[in-house]
Parts: sequence; C-alpha cells; structure tokens
Amino acid sequence: MEENCIFCKIARGEIPSATLYEDEEFRVILDLGPASKGHALVIPKIHAANLFELPDETAAKALVIAKKVATQLKEGLQADGLNVVQNNGAAAGQTVDHFHIHLIPRYENDTVNVKWVPGTLGEADKEDILKLFR
Ligand code: 5GP
Ligand code: ZN
Repeated sequence: MEENCIFCKIARGEIPSATLYEDEEFRVILDLGPASKGHALVIPKIHAANLFELPDETAAKALVIAKKVATQLKEGLQADGLNVVQNNGAAAGQTVDHFHIHLIPRYENDTVNVKWVPGTLGEADKEDILKLFR
C-alpha cells in the first residue's frame, strides 16, 4: 500500500467505487472518465506502479480477471468489440501510477480513439531489436 496512491485506496475499499468484481487480490471498477459505456479498470490490491513492477503471479491473474469481466461487459452491453489497454509511463499515457488494465467496450461508430499511424519496419531497427533477444 502506497500512502498517497488513489488506486490503493480504491482497490482496498477505502474510497468507494462502482465495483463490478472483487476478490482478495483485485477490484474491477468503472472508470470515472469513461471512453465508452462500460469502460472498466482491473486494479490489483497490491501496489505496483506499472507492468514492470508487477509480480508474475499477479500479472497472470490480472489477465484472467480481465477476460472474465470483458466477456460480461461485451455480452451484457451488446458491444461490438472491446479494447484491452494498459499504459506504462507518462510517455505511454499513464496518469495513475498504480498498475491497471483498461477494458473499453467498443461500439460501431463510437468516438474512441485507440489508433496509430502504421510505420515501416526498417532493416536497421529490426536488427537492433532482434539483437536484444539473441
Ligand atoms: P491511465 O491514464 O493511468 O492509464 O488511466 C487512469 C484512468 O483512471 C483514467 O481513465 C481515469 O479516468 C481513471 N481515474 C482516475 N482517477 C479515478 C478515480 O478516482 N476513480 C475512477 N473510477 N477512475 C479514475
Ligand atoms: Zn497503489
């Protein structure tokens, strides 16, 4: 638990939230600034700032819970699709430094924007990256 972390307080129930799911290790809540109807956040009760700090076991459970709630949202709201988004670092759009997974139901012709302009994979970049994994 980090003292000034809002998601620690929400996850542990110290700040009330619209909760869709809760167990000993996680809480799933509705986002207060939803990108679309049903936008939810999967939040572990332990504090990890981001994916890189998250214990493997928590990471594995998080995706199982994301799948479960995403299925309920998509079916219940009759969404046409659903984005799973997870931001790490301010450069990636992270604004709350407590790991969370966004579940964003998508509807035909909605205004949600989770897009980028595709580039081209150059030979030099490809070699640089492949080298890291050899
Ligand atoms: P990030 O930008 O860090 O990936 O996502 C943070 C998300 O948390 C945003 O979508 C924002 O709307 C949501 N959020 C921030 N503060 C609160 C809060 O106090 N309650 C809830 N339910 N959502 C919050
Ligand atoms: Zn926290």
